[in-house]
Amino acid sequence: MRCGTVNAMNVVASGRTATIASCWIDGAPVVTGGPLHRVVNPANNATVVELALATPEDVDTAVASARSALRGWATATPVDRATVLTKLAELADSHAETLIAEEVSQTGKPVRLATEFDIPGSIDNIAFFASAARHLEGKATAEYSGDHTSSIRREAVGVVATITPWNYPLQMAVWKVIPALAAGCSVVIKPAELTPLTTLTLARIAREAGLPDGVLNVVTGAGEDVGAALAGHPDVDVVTFTGSTQVGRKVMAAAAVHGHRTQLELGGKAPFVVFDDADLDAAIQGAVAGSLINTGQDCTAATRAIVARDLYADFVAGVGEVMGKIVVGDPEDPDTDLGPLISAAHRVKVAGMVERAAGQGGRIVTGGVAPDLPGAFYRPTLVADVDESSEIYRAEVFGPVLAVREFTDDDDAIRQANDTDYGLAASAWTRDVYRAQRASREINAGCVWINDHIPIISEMPHGGFGASGFGKDMSAYSFEEYLAIKHVMSDITTVSEKPWHRTVFNKR
Ligand code: NAD
Repeated sequence: MRCGTVNAMNVVASGRTATIASCWIDGAPVVTGGPLHRVVNPANNATVVELALATPEDVDTAVASARSALRGWATATPVDRATVLTKLAELADSHAETLIAEEVSQTGKPVRLATEFDIPGSIDNIAFFASAARHLEGKATAEYSGDHTSSIRREAVGVVATITPWNYPLQMAVWKVIPALAAGCSVVIKPAELTPLTTLTLARIAREAGLPDGVLNVVTGAGEDVGAALAGHPDVDVVTFTGSTQVGRKVMAAAAVHGHRTQLELGGKAPFVVFDDADLDAAIQGAVAGSLINTGQDCTAATRAIVARDLYADFVAGVGEVMGKIVVGDPEDPDTDLGPLISAAHRVKVAGMVERAAGQGGRIVTGGVAPDLPGAFYRPTLVADVDESSEIYRAEVFGPVLAVREFTDDDDAIRQANDTDYGLAASAWTRDVYRAQRASREINAGCVWINDHIPIISEMPHGGFGASGFGKDMSAYSFEEYLAIKHVMSDITTVSEKPWHRTVFNKR
């Protein structure tokens, strides 16, 4: 139900608490009639904004808006779509300060991370798809049968429903929305209710960039009602999702009721394999950066270090020492390395897993406690000697926690790396090119880094195997999620009685 509209701009930048529109539908902000919800800064528990969440009826309105805008956008020329997206990348760049302020306040992530990773990465991704929209490829048009010209049409798949998590709010929105727009689809996105601000800003500046009304719609609401209504909506064509494995499977089940396509980017439990010839210092630095990025709330974060017996003690000591120097505190301070977890409730979950790890034989080398700060902070934590069957080694923690085990030989290392239901990302640390090649072939994950862990680039795909989901974000591969392939086969013989007709009926 529409109760009126307000301008959602500059609420965070001005530092005020206010009620803002939780939805963006048909090119305008919409204040809904759903329950009031506070977006909280997890660094200090302050209210960032208050908004009325969407309802399932708002989802219907947003989907109808996307449906009616679809044809115009799908039939726009690639250069028209590219022009809008190029402008959007420019506007995102000029609004970078606002986007950074919103991202830091709603997630508590350090301003350095938002400034050097989240926002520029998102802008680059928009710019990449602006250009990729003009480079769609398919099979050559040719006379494969001899009697027909066959060609391939790549058509927008239709209305895309997408649901995103809170850990990298803008980046996750961009990874889903922009390739869909580049392909000619219209979109309804539901961001996590904890972190809706940058997704709403993206929709607003997309309109400024010239995106026609209705092509991009945002509904901010709770997962169980608004998320479920969107995932199971009969009038969308594809459902794409980034979030936990558990919810991803519910989303897939809801979409399956209507036979809709899905793409799922789910949880991870990335192994970090350190062979005995590795550059130990590089591995130590890499393990700290790879496990603590975004306070460990990263689906590709290094979570299981599997280390050669000869290097084990030095690796544990080195990681423990560097983790001890990490600056935990105010996300607005450029010197801060580690911000809070997303919420107090999430901290309870992370702390519980670390406590149980200690009870299951794990040795807490550093961390394992919350610092004396008002927000949802948790110290960088290294748990050594963990058992292969322990919860800390097998389940996704999504916090600043690295578990370590040793391995005996290369086969044991690969076996341990693959001993998980997840398959999103992994890294192997070695100076031996043969080992590196073998690890990249044998490790079962959508991305294997060699002598690094975390970097991503717009040109290359991101996506997992197994319990980490399927399909790709980023790169030209992600177009496959948003384009239908149509074969057009045209007779070139002008013959009425074609030779193949005799297979069906023989008049003579
Ligand atoms: P989550 O699964 O709890 O929520 C994700 C989104 O789903 C939110 O918008 C939520 O409101 C919505 N949702 C919840 N219940 C729903 C339902 N029944 N139907 C439809 N939607 C529903 O995940 P989260 O806690 O926001 O994010 C953390 C998770 O995301 C981690 O597991 C992490 O690994 C994963 N993640 C994966 C990737 C990737 O690329 N593979 C990237 C980022 C995060």
